[in-house]
Amino acid sequence: MKHFYTLPDLRVWKKISEELEKPIRLGVLGHPVEHSLSPELQNAALEAAGLEMQYGRFQIRSEELAEALTLLRELHFVGLNLTVPHKVSGFSLVDEVDPQAEKIGALNTILFRDEKLVGFNTDGSGFSQAIREVFSVDLRDLRVLLLGAGGGAGRAIAWQCARENCERLVLVNRTAEKAATLARELAAYFSGPRVLGPEARLEALPWEESALPRQLARTDLVVNATTLGLRLSDPLPLGRSLLAPHLMVYDLISRRERTPLLAAAEEAGARGANGLSMLLHQGALAFELWFDRPAPRAAMRAALQNSG
Ligand code: NAP
Repeated sequence: MKHFYTLPDLRVWKKISEELEKPIRLGVLGHPVEHSLSPELQNAALEAAGLEMQYGRFQIRSEELAEALTLLRELHFVGLNLTVPHKVSGFSLVDEVDPQAEKIGALNTILFRDEKLVGFNTDGSGFSQAIREVFSVDLRDLRVLLLGAGGGAGRAIAWQCARENCERLVLVNRTAEKAATLARELAAYFSGPRVLGPEARLEALPWEESALPRQLARTDLVVNATTLGLRLSDPLPLGRSLLAPHLMVYDLISRRERTPLLAAAEEAGARGANGLSMLLHQGALAFELWFDRPAPRAAMRAALQNSG
């Protein structure tokens, strides 16, 4: 199997398939896609489940997505994952959308069912399972500050916090209007009282460091759902001086090395975790949608630990 395939490869897929040991019937579509760990994760799951097929990487540009999906349907693929930049645009290219993904407005999983493309989003549930696993707490007991609330992953996480009735949710986004729009969508979920007294349970803030110290003093969990940190040259999403020992910091970047944000969190005495746990759980949930059976999580976890 090649490290990644492209749209021209899909156009001559029959020829490419002849050279494969097992057929590729699943894959992740993105651009860039070469660093995605989903193939390691899903191929370990397929192997452990005894399914005679493979999961590949497909480097597909935004303008190529519609043709790629048409070809993959004709080629009888089982399912797909979508990553940056396709999570929102994929939404308008599928035949049916699961109600949760509909609210989020973004997809990360597609199932080919009866010749139809059905879209799902497993990022929110995967995030919730990851937080429980790495910090031994439930979202419902947390005051969450979400950086990057306007992106696909950020919206999925915000909706999950709302569904699980978290104590408090502060939405922060560089493009402030996106956070404000999301806050309006979620308002009904935060109308009930909790133990916080008169403080608002849901707020949307512009990306201004001056507004953050007051909020962080009232926060348990900080989530980085921005793309800051994907490149090593990126600035920290949060100034070092804002990090404090009472915080849990979850960085969605799924890299085995410690991200700069997590290094800064550790220096400040805060607990931190990277996005590998979310990658595992969102991937396991996708596997369960494709095959309607429990995902072999132990094998998937081992594959992620051994990757890279
Ligand atoms: P996306 O839809 O492109 O959203 C990107 C977000 O980052 C937006 O909120 C954007 O703000 C913000 N942003 C980008 N550059 C910024 C900057 N210079 N300063 C401040 N904010 C900036 O991407 P996504 O799909 O949500 O993915 C976000 C991150 O989560 C990526 O690193 C992705 O790899 C990771 N992720 C991890 C998992 C996992 O399982 N671990 C799952 C999904 C995603 P604007 O709205 O202002 O543009």
